[in-house]
Amino acid sequence: MGKVLIIGCGGVAGVAIQKCAQNSEVFNEICIASRTVSKCDALKAKIEGSTKAKITTAKVDADNVNELVSLIREVKPDVVLNLALPYQDLTIMDACLETGVHYIDTANYEAEDTEDPTWRAIYEKRCKEKGFTAYFDYSWQWAYNDRFKAKGITGLLGTGFDPGVTSVFSAYALKHYFDEIHTIDILDCNGGDHGYPFATNFNPEINLREVSANGSYWENGHWVETKPMEIKREYNFDGVGPKDMYLLHHEEIESLAKNIPGVKRIRFFMTFGQSYLTHMKCLENVGMLRTDTVNFNGQEIVPIQFLKALLPDPASLGPRTVGKTNIGCIFTGVKDGKERKIYIYNVCDHQECYKEVGSQAISYTTGVPAMIGTMMVMQGLWKKPGVFNVEDFDPDPYMDALNKWGLPWVVDENPTLVP
Ligand code: NDP
Repeated sequence: MGKVLIIGCGGVAGVAIQKCAQNSEVFNEICIASRTVSKCDALKAKIEGSTKAKITTAKVDADNVNELVSLIREVKPDVVLNLALPYQDLTIMDACLETGVHYIDTANYEAEDTEDPTWRAIYEKRCKEKGFTAYFDYSWQWAYNDRFKAKGITGLLGTGFDPGVTSVFSAYALKHYFDEIHTIDILDCNGGDHGYPFATNFNPEINLREVSANGSYWENGHWVETKPMEIKREYNFDGVGPKDMYLLHHEEIESLAKNIPGVKRIRFFMTFGQSYLTHMKCLENVGMLRTDTVNFNGQEIVPIQFLKALLPDPASLGPRTVGKTNIGCIFTGVKDGKERKIYIYNVCDHQECYKEVGSQAISYTTGVPAMIGTMMVMQGLWKKPGVFNVEDFDPDPYMDALNKWGLPWVVDENPTLVP
């Protein structure tokens, strides 16, 4: 059917590319590009031979719009799937605008240099106006809506698991189970064990920045901010068992608050073990999570980037990780005048993922929805000019595709609620 250009060849991209290759009726050509073409070539070598799709590779620095534009003009893809880092979202969107190609990603824009004075001024104004202090928000990408519309291209934001599947679950709940949703609790549980004292399941820089930041939730039309890890709950997860979980700020809260009419409260919880939290606090206390530049023996280093070099590569966790993830949303609201509650979730087994694609479940649960969102745009099922979040579209074909492509979901109509 068409050609996808995938930027990035890390943990998530590795899964998305294999899933596109499995789905060669839709993706008959796949170009993989990043700064290190040898990594893209290694992925190509792994997949070629087991797919009908034609696979090519290219070198690109996605911080550079001109390089991206030249690559897009050369490759001529139908869609660009951005699986680099959130730092590259805007440059890739700029290149898509210039070349008139649809854009898809899994994480909203975050500035790499949070000390940049121009960015800082906009950020501080937003903190005051909106009431949350996370370094990322949707305003930067939503601002492309009119330009994408004028160009006649689709921008699909956040088609990973969370954001992504959790937002599609919300649209599905609203379409089939509720007249009005009042509360959404998004629960992200990783019951996996990789055997290392400390490692992150995806890019350490992005992961540690997210987890060490203030928490926040949406309530009655405004944000309520908490200290990091201030709100703790315990929940008994199907397939995993009881786990401690902590309230975090998370990007889909912002888009769901805008797109789910009448919603009164949205919270996001993620599970962490005590050992992980103790390691992280210690690293933070000694300055290893700092994102600014430090002079060390005449060399400029960014501590969190140095830490990344020391930690296990998330892509190497696959063979060692055992256990399951359980990610989903608990909804309460009303249907036909009666109160109702449901829980939609997916359970994913780390070792099953490893057997299928050679990755653990965190990359799998993000890479599969990245392929599905891209397929929705390629097939024209989710295609309209402008910039959209996944809950803006009909959830049904996406929900069917989750069952078909490895992330089956269940609906529990009598869940235990989170206090
Ligand atoms: P990795 O660090 O494993 O991979 C990042 C990739 O981006 C690398 O292949 C790197 O390749 C490439 N990259 C980085 N900078 C550039 C650049 N300037 N130009 C071109 N390529 C670049 O990250 P993950 O695979 O773990 O995560 C990928 C994305 O998925 C992130 O945005 C992350 O936030 C998001 N994510 C979303 C989730 C969700 O549920 N929505 C969950 C988990 C992750 P190279 O160094 O060769 O350039």
